[in-house]
Amino acid sequence: MRKVKAVMFKRIADLCQPAIELTKGIILILDQDGRIISFNEFLESTTGYSYSELIQKNWFDLLIPEKEREPAKRYFRRFILRGKSSQKIVTTIMTRSGGKRFIEWHHKRLEDDTPGEVIGLLAIGQDISARVEHEKQLLNERNQLIERNKELTCLYSMTKIVGKNKPLPQMLESIAAIIPPAFQYPAITTATIRLDQHSYGGRETAIGSPALSENLTIQEIPRGNIEVICTPPENGYKISNPPFLDEERALLRTVAHHLSLAIEKKEALDNKAEMENQLRHSDRLAKIGQLTAGVAHELNEPLVHILGFAKLSSKATDLSEQVYSDLDNIIKAALHAREVIKKLMFFSRQTPPRETPVSLNRLIEDGIYLFESRCAKNGIVVKKTLYKDLPSIKADISQLQQVFTNLTVNAIQAMPEEGKLNIETSCDEDYVYLLVQDTGIGMTPETLKQIFLPFFTTKDIKEGTGLGLSVVHGIVKSHGGSIDVESRIGNGTRFRIKFPLKRQPPEENNES
Ligand code: ADP
Ligand code: MG
Repeated sequence: MRKVKAVMFKRIADLCQPAIELTKGIILILDQDGRIISFNEFLESTTGYSYSELIQKNWFDLLIPEKEREPAKRYFRRFILRGKSSQKIVTTIMTRSGGKRFIEWHHKRLEDDTPGEVIGLLAIGQDISARVEHEKQLLNERNQLIERNKELTCLYSMTKIVGKNKPLPQMLESIAAIIPPAFQYPAITTATIRLDQHSYGGRETAIGSPALSENLTIQEIPRGNIEVICTPPENGYKISNPPFLDEERALLRTVAHHLSLAIEKKEALDNKAEMENQLRHSDRLAKIGQLTAGVAHELNEPLVHILGFAKLSSKATDLSEQVYSDLDNIIKAALHAREVIKKLMFFSRQTPPRETPVSLNRLIEDGIYLFESRCAKNGIVVKKTLYKDLPSIKADISQLQQVFTNLTVNAIQAMPEEGKLNIETSCDEDYVYLLVQDTGIGMTPETLKQIFLPFFTTKDIKEGTGLGLSVVHGIVKSHGGSIDVESRIGNGTRFRIKFPLKRQPPEENNES
């Protein structure tokens, strides 16, 4: 049988010879086992193998790359010989020197005289390696362009976001949102920016999912990172492995670098603005302090006279009831004015403290007692957390009582319908701290800016004169301390005052 076939092949090959020689391409005849029966010189020049190295060898074993060999043999047996494959296929072949060529084949089955009996295959191949390489290169260039475009779009959007000068958290949220579109699978990619224990953006954790991460280092201090996570859904969303391209790694590095710089710049600007703000504020308070001191002084003198003379006159025995009543009103009004002036003097630090060692804890225990029934009536729960071995500070006890009273009254007034009043003391090596915190109505940023100004009040005339916090400010300053306030509308207010344990020599000026 084999012999008959060999004779037949020889006949076919002889018949085809002129055509084989004329064709500008590889011509190849394989038997049904894939053995090379006949070919033209193009196969030799394409593969680098000589005639004798090719003839009678198995096509697949000699020329098909190992990885593709078995599938190619299977395909040959199942489809090509049975005529089920299309007329045109492209295969890769290995040259003698180990190179790769891409060949596009047109093929036809060779049949025996008995129709239907396939004995081999005639194939004509064109080396399309140059075209394939060119296409590959174009595709590569296209992909590179797409990546570059994504990168530029991402960096451009980032510059735009940074330029908007929004608060840092908002800026980071916006930047986290523009990172996934720069990646291959935006729909299943999330980006999380972490900075100082806060997270912005995706907030996914990378457990089990492929992730890329770059550190955020600001002024050489590691402060967080940007993490990009790709979470393929379970139902067969095909992604490449690994799901990140080298370009994407590089992009994330660039984004992290630019973001670190942007954060650094933003923080520097914010600090500068905050310092300028504080300076402006202290400057304003200092100027108002000077003015107030002058006015208080000027008014005090005549007031002493008014009060003195009114009291003297009221001692006269021959006046009408009406005049007594008028004099009484003058005395009351003058006493009220004296109180106001006294407060203004506290604010402008015209009342130097008479210092003795004061235990802030004792002062609170004694002071809160006065408010207990009022708190109970308003449904306010008072919580005291007093540091056990709180050191004494050198201070004017009656002035500190005023500080505590004013803060407590404000807190109670801020909680008309129940709430919590939290009073705490604490200390470190240098300072003793007093904290008065309420869960009341809170303040707008606009109110917060003005609370220390004398006569600033948001309360109606019976409730407030707007001098409480001015007095607190003056007293704390004259004790070398400082005040820190945090408040949010609807979320309560926290006053934290610190008094130094060791006092610097008192300053002359009146800054905040
Ligand atoms: P007054 O209490 O007489 O209004 P203050 O100087 O004590 O004056 O306070 C000034 C303003 O600060 C108040 O009118 C109020 O708007 C605001 N304020 C002070 N403390 C609080 C607080 N604990 N909660 C909400 N707002 C406060
Ligand atoms: Mg008040």
